[in-house]
Amino acid sequence: MKAIKTSLCKNDRVMVMTGKDKGKSGKIIEILHGKDRARVEGINLVKRHTKPGPNSKGGIVEVEASIHLSNLMLICPKCAEPVRISHKVLDDGKKIRVCKKCSDAIPLEK
Ligand SMILES: [Zn+2]
Repeated sequence: MKAIKTSLCKNDRVMVMTGKDKGKSGKIIEILHGKDRARVEGINLVKRHTKPGPNSKGGIVEVEASIHLSNLMLICPKCAEPVRISHKVLDDGKKIRVCKKCSDAIPLEK
């Protein structure tokens, strides 16, 4: 399987477009490169049983399971809704992401 190119990055705010969490939004915690998946804060929660260990009492914890990148759309901070993005190369060679709707640059969150 060929890896898809994503313009999504860690800490981006995205909306889920399909599945049980459709319409929910959250921040990307982690991009799983090579798998075309990402984990998003508060999205696709699954219950995991943990065994008691030195640092925890054990029990059930909710963790974010990964979701396929094609199910996510970047939320434009200006439009405040999921948008399609395009790329623009600046004069200094820097590549930026641009909202196709309002044409504003969407900065990378650190
Ligand atoms: Zn926009």
